[in-house]
Amino acid sequence: MSNRSDITQSVAPVFCSKVDTPPPVSSYYGVNTFSEAAMQKKVPAETFRAFKTWQEGGAVISPAQADEIAAAMKDWAVERGAVTYSHWFQPMTGLTAEKHEGFICADKDNGGVIEQFTGNKLILGEPDASSFPSGGIRATFEARGYTAWDPSSPAFITEVALGKTLCIPSIFISYTGDALDKKLPLLRSDAAISKAAVDLLKIFGHKAKHVCSTCGIEQEYFLIDNSWYKKRPDLMLAGRTLTGAPSPKGQQLEDQYYGSIKERVLNYMHDVCGEAFKLGIPVTTRHNEVAPNQYEFAPIFERSNLAADNNLLLMDVMKRTALRHNLVCLLHEKPFAGVNGSGKHVNWSLADDRGNNLLNPGDTPEENLLFLTVLVSVVRAMHKHSGLLRAAAASAGNERRLGANEAPPAIMSVFLGEQLTKIISMIESGKMEKGKKQGFVDLGVSLLPQFMRDTTDRNRTSPFAFTGAKFEFRTLGSSMNVSTAVTVINTIVADSMAVIGDKIKKELSGVKNGKSGKDGRDTKEAGDDMIAAVLKVLGAVIKESKSILFEGNNYSSDWAGEAKKRGLQNAALSPAAFKSFIADDAIALFERHKVYSKTELLSRYNIWLDKYEKTLDIEARTLIEMVNTQVLPSAYAYQSDMASGLEVLRVLSDDMTIDMVDGALEDRKEVFGTLTADIYYIRKNLKELDAQMKKTAGMELEEKAAFFFTVIQPQMDHIRRHVDALECTMPDEFWPLPKYREMLFIL
Ligand code: ADP
Ligand code: MG
Repeated sequence: MSNRSDITQSVAPVFCSKVDTPPPVSSYYGVNTFSEAAMQKKVPAETFRAFKTWQEGGAVISPAQADEIAAAMKDWAVERGAVTYSHWFQPMTGLTAEKHEGFICADKDNGGVIEQFTGNKLILGEPDASSFPSGGIRATFEARGYTAWDPSSPAFITEVALGKTLCIPSIFISYTGDALDKKLPLLRSDAAISKAAVDLLKIFGHKAKHVCSTCGIEQEYFLIDNSWYKKRPDLMLAGRTLTGAPSPKGQQLEDQYYGSIKERVLNYMHDVCGEAFKLGIPVTTRHNEVAPNQYEFAPIFERSNLAADNNLLLMDVMKRTALRHNLVCLLHEKPFAGVNGSGKHVNWSLADDRGNNLLNPGDTPEENLLFLTVLVSVVRAMHKHSGLLRAAAASAGNERRLGANEAPPAIMSVFLGEQLTKIISMIESGKMEKGKKQGFVDLGVSLLPQFMRDTTDRNRTSPFAFTGAKFEFRTLGSSMNVSTAVTVINTIVADSMAVIGDKIKKELSGVKNGKSGKDGRDTKEAGDDMIAAVLKVLGAVIKESKSILFEGNNYSSDWAGEAKKRGLQNAALSPAAFKSFIADDAIALFERHKVYSKTELLSRYNIWLDKYEKTLDIEARTLIEMVNTQVLPSAYAYQSDMASGLEVLRVLSDDMTIDMVDGALEDRKEVFGTLTADIYYIRKNLKELDAQMKKTAGMELEEKAAFFFTVIQPQMDHIRRHVDALECTMPDEFWPLPKYREMLFIL
């Protein structure tokens, strides 16, 4: 009854014709992006200058200049064969959205049509907002929402075999100006961190015009053959397998990570990279990940806004390209139980307008002092607000991955490495100050550059680890948009920088006042005052924040207990994690930095809860259908087959008194009994699940989400255990669903 064995025949790579000497990447990198260079070639110099000024936070371009840029963008796109354009935005669905419009309009003078694109159309779009999640911001009768061009991310052309579309990265706002998307808050948070960092840099005598956050995003994913995928309703509808016995060989041998890449996968990777390069996505790293058929791509870091757009675009390219190779790219956090899930590591740092990395210690003690101040700002931010970062990484999918063996737990902590930890505790204890003035500099701060070259100090279990010249946030799931997490990091660090900056200024003014009678202090003395003031402030901040620092194994069971003692949050349940976003101090924080309004926060909370609950609802319904229409009918068929066999055996032994080995009949009865028991328990638990699902109908959102976590999910897992037991005992030809060993190994 099953055609699983037929599928094995159809699992095959598509034919790829060999390219002997592909052109160098630099010759086609970014050909599909309307880069600044492309714009500069096509618009008057004055317009380009105005555009740059606007981009850097200055005056908005004039309507005439917008028209010029729009015309240039259209010409560029039409020359390359684009016939439509679309504002490309990031609604709260977590996915990207697009609505295509043609460039053509009626040619009033000559009849027919001409290609035209105006500044108005470039800047503002008006998709119907009523069908996007708004979490109550916009009542459904007020459907108006606007997309508005984000000039800081270049427009790009997407191509399929028969056509091309110009996509314009945009924000998405309601009629009332509230953010209905993930991009606008990220842009606001970049403005907040720029202001805070520029102010802080000023104290250290650095004149930066602006600072932006930078992001390098490591994207993990699975690939399976499309033929298997199409036979798994759970993968198609829920993105993960809801049943499936472990493959006897999984990742035990640790032979997949960085292993030789299969030819079929390598062809896919070449294809993805080629597409990505055309779109100006600097993918440089690709390798096998830990689980069978699991892989990773990582581009070179960029400004966060661009990195976030490019990551979304890359995910899209990965999915589309996979289908062309008769593969399916799975971006779910935990598509297969029992082997590693997929994360999305976000490497984060700050860069000033000259490209200096603020988390890179410099060559002088003063530069190292600035580095330490930025570092301690991050530590303080995480101590005060790590719950927000946990919330930004919470989802039904990621819940399956967090706390499992391969991913950091739901407890947020910060890893600094042995040597930085030593330096931090010296600053905290103030011991350095006890030595000669010059002494503390030699002892700690000036040693930093040497230490930094040694990046072997790693802790793969930490959710938020300092890794050389950046922090690596490892909690985010593979399917997620990084924007919310980066928005949170930017905002909480901006807040800490402002607080620490104020404290340093206060300390310095105290020093100056104390010495007010003493004019003409030499610069060395002033420099020493500065070092002493900064170290004093940092010492106090470290003292109050150090409970967030953890160097040990985050996977160990002791850590949960230890973290509890330290008063750290451990929100295993996503709905509990979401709550951090609507706590009073969070609302005050985000409003203070003009990143989210209270309305926007409440709406996000509702959207997340709603999505969480709906995801689990879809999973439960999918499981019920699969079990009812595929698993049970197969099991019944096998059961009746077994029953006939048993009956034959009984007749042979009783009626025909054929000599049989002792226990043969009993053994057959046992097999039949186990099968019947599994079927019985599947049915019993399915009926219970059905009843539980009915109960959710009248529940409020919060109650429903908790019910799904505490009641429905365990019930689903219970059913799964019996289904998986059947999978391991039923004959291959009876089992309807592709198995783990097939999906993970036949490629
Ligand atoms: P690791 O060994 O920690 O994985 P890699 O050098 O492979 O480090 O870098 C991982 C990611 O971190 C890459 O995407 C890289 O571009 C990014 N990265 C490096 N420096 C920075 C930075 N200053 N800001 C943000 N991301 C960075
Ligand atoms: Mg890494």
